[in-house]
Amino acid sequence: MKVERVELHRLRMPMKEPFETSFGVEYDKSVLIVAIHGGGFVGLGECGAADDPFYLEETNASAEYIITHFLVPMLLSTEFDSPEEFVRSIAHIRRNEMAKAAVEAAIWDLFSRSRGTPLYRMIGGTKIEIPVGISVGIQPTIDQLVSKVAGYLEQGYKRIKIKIKPGKEVDQVKALRTTLGDFPLMADANSAYCLEDAELLGSLDRYNLMMIEQPLAYDDLIDHAELAKKISTPICLDESIRSLSHLDAAVRLGSCQIVNLKMPRVGGVLESIKIANFCAGAGLDLWCGGLLETGVGRAFNLAITSLDAFTLPGDTAPSERYFVRDIVDRPAEFSSPGIISLSERPGVGVDFDPSTLQDYLVASTSFG
Ligand code: MG
Repeated sequence: MKVERVELHRLRMPMKEPFETSFGVEYDKSVLIVAIHGGGFVGLGECGAADDPFYLEETNASAEYIITHFLVPMLLSTEFDSPEEFVRSIAHIRRNEMAKAAVEAAIWDLFSRSRGTPLYRMIGGTKIEIPVGISVGIQPTIDQLVSKVAGYLEQGYKRIKIKIKPGKEVDQVKALRTTLGDFPLMADANSAYCLEDAELLGSLDRYNLMMIEQPLAYDDLIDHAELAKKISTPICLDESIRSLSHLDAAVRLGSCQIVNLKMPRVGGVLESIKIANFCAGAGLDLWCGGLLETGVGRAFNLAITSLDAFTLPGDTAPSERYFVRDIVDRPAEFSSPGIISLSERPGVGVDFDPSTLQDYLVASTSFG
């Protein structure tokens, strides 16, 4: 495949309502989209970063720098016969997983379009009906949290994840269990706790949570392994797993029983497939997280979830849950309550909706 042109689109997407986590509140989402032209096709990819370095260290600006100065020159000067070959050619660029994943995604889309195959089939996926969970941000009051979660359960979501913050967690979980009973519920702490909080976190054990996600530091494995010995709620790691080798270390240490996979965090589709295979072999539960993606990133998340190794519903809710309008022509939506069906279109299954793209566009840069 000869890449003829690469475009970077920077967008600002208004959100339906502010999304609060322990990092802060997001009112609109800054988005970086990569479009790679080659062989008469266009492949799309989305950068998982935000404008701030609060989830991980990369930002959209740092990703744009790495893409512009290191990945684009590589794309325009080298021919690739497969996405795997492309991944090998950028292996010398250290870290910067989100920048690499955005470009790699567009390459996978481009190759699967050129082969006339849906991406999910090209990567070996088999599930076409994807059960969907939802992530609920921190709400101003417990009553608002309960009524919001009740609404999502009514809409058919297969699993509810709430964001928790120190001091509020027990009241949040207790209120949900008391009012709504025993539905699939998990809590994401986004590293808001430390090992000294083990007793507090242990007080959540009685509420039958599916898991607690990333309670401790974003780069820790050791303390999570200690915590796992002190609480019975399974631990899921998100931020700490940046690659297959991190996951291998986490499993050997006993730091987690469940993995939240985000392709941008681990550097792309290929590393995600390796992690999925590892989880299947090790008997770990796996699900796909989200980074408030537009319909482009969301379509990739759904495609990877088609792999058998993804055993639990992910944060792959329809984009109408988060955005006023999506930038794609086929935004993910329920085919039945709590289920999204994968598209049989070649590639990742979405194209730009030109008018929405235009409305939200901040700037575009074209190379080649
Ligand atoms: Mg998380």
